[in-house]
This record gives sequence, C-alpha cells and structure tokens, in this order.
Amino acid sequence: MATSSTRNNSDVLYTDALTHIVGGVNSPSRSFKAVGGGAPVYMERGDGAYFYDVDGNRYIDYLAAYGPIITGHAHPHIHKALIAASSKGLLYGTPHALEVEFAKKLKAAIPSMDKVRFTNSGTEAVMTTVRVARAYTGRELVVKFSGCYHGHSDLMLIAAGSGPATLGSPDSAGVTRATAKEVITVPFNDVEAFRDMMREWGSQIACVLVEPIVGNFGIVEPKPGFLQAINDITHEHGALVIYDEVITAFRFTYGSAQQVYGIEPDMTALGKIIGGGLPIGAYGGKAEIMETVAPLGPAYQAGTMAGNPASMATGIACLEVLEQPGVYEKLDALGAQLEAGIREAAETHGVTITLNRLKGALTVYFTDEVVTDYEGAEKSDAEVFGRFFKLMLENGVNLAPSKYEAWFLTTEHSETDIEETIVAVNRAFAQL
Ligand code: PLP
Repeated sequence: MATSSTRNNSDVLYTDALTHIVGGVNSPSRSFKAVGGGAPVYMERGDGAYFYDVDGNRYIDYLAAYGPIITGHAHPHIHKALIAASSKGLLYGTPHALEVEFAKKLKAAIPSMDKVRFTNSGTEAVMTTVRVARAYTGRELVVKFSGCYHGHSDLMLIAAGSGPATLGSPDSAGVTRATAKEVITVPFNDVEAFRDMMREWGSQIACVLVEPIVGNFGIVEPKPGFLQAINDITHEHGALVIYDEVITAFRFTYGSAQQVYGIEPDMTALGKIIGGGLPIGAYGGKAEIMETVAPLGPAYQAGTMAGNPASMATGIACLEVLEQPGVYEKLDALGAQLEAGIREAAETHGVTITLNRLKGALTVYFTDEVVTDYEGAEKSDAEVFGRFFKLMLENGVNLAPSKYEAWFLTTEHSETDIEETIVAVNRAFAQL
C-alpha cells in the first residue's frame, strides 16, 4: 500500500512543474486545490485497473482519466490497433477508410445520428452542436442545466443567474457579459422550472443542452419523465434538443443514454470513451440538421487533426472490446459489489454518506440529503471529501480529486480489486 511519505518524486516533479506549467497542471481538475492542496501524484504507468506512480507505489484506479479508460490502462487490443495505425503514418489530412468504418460503427450504436463528424475533443463537439443548432433554427439563445459541464468553450462557461430561469453570468474571467446573455440555466430534474422558462423565452431558443445522465456533479439520473418532458416542451417551441453524451455514451450500455431511456435527441455530442484513450470528439444528428454543416451548408467547422487515423483506430478497437457479451453486466456487478461495501463501511464507522450509482459509475457524497440536482451535490462536505480522498490515496486507491466527480469502473477491475478497495474505504472512514 502506498503512503504519503513515499511520494518524494511526485513532490519534486510538482515543484519543477510549478515553474514551467501554469499551476503545475495541464487541466485545472488535476490539481489538488479542491482537496486541500498539495502535490498531485505523478503517474508513470498504467496497466489494467492499476496505476504505478513515479515513486513505485501501486494504486487501484477509479479515475479512468475522467471516464475514457473504460477498458483499463494499456488494453492489449487497443494497443495493437494503435501500433498498426501509427506504422502507416499518424496524420494524413486526407479522407481515409478508418474514419468511414468508425462513423458507421457509431451510427449503428446510436441510431439517432444519421450523419456524424469527428472533432478532437468533447468541447469542440458540444460547441459545434450549438453552432449548428443556431444555424438550423436561425435563433440565438441556448439553455443548459445547472452543474452540467459541457466543455470550456465561452458559451458553456456561463453560470446560472440569480433566479432559476434568468439569463446567466460569466463563470470564468475572459467570458464576456454579452456571451452570458445568450445562455439560460435551469435546475436539472425540475420540469416546472424548465416549462416556465420556455414559456418566457421559447421562441428565441435555438437549443437545449443536457447531460441525459449527469456525470459532472456526480452521477445523477434523470427523474422518470424528465427527459421526455424536455424533448416534448423543447419541440413544442421549435427548438432542438442536444444530448451531451461525452461521458455517458458507451459508459452504461453499448450505445448511449438515449437507448437506456428510449428517447432520441436531435443532435448528440460524443467524446472520451469513443477515442479509446486518444483525443477525440464527435457530433451527429438528423441528416436534415447535419446538412447545415460545411461543405454542404453554411455552418463552418473544421479540424487539422479531426478524424486522424490513430484516434479512429483506437476508438474502433475500444468499441470492439465493449461490444463483447457480458461487458456491461460485469461493470454493473462490480459496481454493486463496491456500492454494498462502501455502504457497509459507512454504517460500521458512522459516516454519513449518500451514494448514487448507475452500473459501473458511482459517486459518494458526504451528506445525508438525496442528490438529484446540483444544489444537492453542493451540500456534500468538501473538507471531509478532501480528507477521504487523501486517505484513499495512502491506502492505494486513486480517485478524482473533487467531490463532484464519479468513480469509474473498468472492464479490468476484478472482484479482488473491489475487496481491496473496500478495505481501503474502511480504513479511510475509520480515520475521518
Ligand atoms: N461534456 C461533458 C459531459 C464532459 O464531461 C466533458 C469533459 O469532462 C466535456 C463535454 C468536454 O470534453 P473535453 O474535455 O474532451 O473537451
């Protein structure tokens, strides 16, 4: 088991990184700011369900790189596909056969997409769906739900306004107030607030963006009827529904959350898992809407790296692993085992938690309130989570350093890994 005193090499690297990389990290969520500070752990190698850090400590990993690594680290099938693709040249800047093969595979898995286009990240995919929706509808306003994260484009970094259905305010310096006026944010799982907002603004709304199963304030499922109501009300007002399935696609089933609930959006944004670990994004939707995109239509979107052979090859290989029989049943069974162990540990040590789980993804909130929206997730005690997170690291388990993130299982976790994790949870809870 790792202990904090054995992470000297991570400390040294972090000190160096602080001089050369802004904040020492290449994405703010990797810093330990939200868990009481300190040097993040520098990983050297991933293998299946495990991470090995630069000090030789082993961790059972539930970060899964914030979701994409659903087949575990260095999966042999994906590795082989990457080697094969890279031996033929990494980037062409021309069309090639793998992108056609992958587009067909994605369409077969998510039938609401008649046409797709590849990008390099989820941010780009979501950003473009909004542009396309605006081009298609000729309208400008965008609706999203509090606490949902849709990447870091200006438009998506808008916080809710003071009331539940008011125009937003910038959530990041550098985003203009003019941009904020283009976005309306409403609470997740609140049909009435959504209906009221649409009554007021509906004729100006281009699109409604939603994570159909939230992954960004922990795992939060839509209440029964919520997604259907969003679809119905949005369409009544002539706007488009966009599902941000950057986390959810291929996480809970082979396909997307659309199939879990039997509801189809007009457009879908994808990323993370579909790259098998390489940078990727994609968006797709009904043919009539997608034909708004250049070179067919007036909405411009492009990318030097988009559809590159390596990302296509690893993406196809990842889906080939996931389409094998029993994959999602295994993820669900491991998730259930982990959930039961965490609940029992909380009971044993008198720790108050709320646990949300859907199949192979779960979140432990340090609150006794049911979490169905962002307001609920905010009640989770950040200070307690920070201590829990660090105790788990010391006991050889790597989680995301934020109370709002999920634990992600992979096809490579075993029952023994879960048992070992539950021992770690018991030790951490005992010391909280
Ligand atoms: N949409 C959702 C639901 C996400 O969780 C994320 C990233 O965490 C994004 C979009 C942005 O994706 P990327 O980080 O690939 O730009």
